[in-house]
Amino acid sequence: MEHTSDSALVVFSGGQDSTTCLAWALSRFQRVETIGFDYGQRHAVELACRTEVLARLRAYSADWAKRLGPDSLLSLDVFQQLGETALTHDVKISMTASGLPSTFVPGRNLIFMTLAAAQAYRRGIKHLVTGVCETDFSGYPDCRDDTMKALQVAINLGMQARMAIETPLMWLTKAETWSLAHSLGGEALVELILEHTHTCYQGERGQRHPWGHGCGACPACELRAAGWEQYRKATSGVQRA
Ligand code: ZN
Repeated sequence: MEHTSDSALVVFSGGQDSTTCLAWALSRFQRVETIGFDYGQRHAVELACRTEVLARLRAYSADWAKRLGPDSLLSLDVFQQLGETALTHDVKISMTASGLPSTFVPGRNLIFMTLAAAQAYRRGIKHLVTGVCETDFSGYPDCRDDTMKALQVAINLGMQARMAIETPLMWLTKAETWSLAHSLGGEALVELILEHTHTCYQGERGQRHPWGHGCGACPACELRAAGWEQYRKATSGVQRA
């Protein structure tokens, strides 16, 4: 199978990070496709945001609309059969005895990337893009750079391919992820991400905070709020200078 080097498949959830990664891919590759996974998330709101964000990105730029190809959503309810985590079941978000938060879904990113590679293989796509990040480490070992590098080797050996896992956010703070979005699409893209992406673990949309929608209290909202505040402080400093 010939893999065209100007093509990318973005693992896209509809959250801030994967939306920024999608914008990153759209500004680099001629052909960009998206893939998402329905793994029995407690909150369907995340999947609804995916569709909305894709439509908004198409409307945002005619060039991006031309590059943005089909989206696929794979069902992975097997994670619910594997056992309880706070993302798939109604259990409390907390630290577990293993030192990992209860939101950790063992094997999730390993499976996601392997399935994304299988899809990319069939579609003749070379680059796999994911928003995993080590800097604001939420305690997820499958977000580490070494995990992704090892996985890239395993995928290429196992599929006899030369695919590349791209992790544009790996070493960025949440504030720097906002800066990246701004550099890719200006204030309009930042606004799009603020208003339409979903990060909250509790699946709350209702209230609109300065940093977007969410419960404001779960670890994901806290990270997003802190990142936004830091980004705002840094950019207002630039404007004053
Ligand atoms: Zn929240």
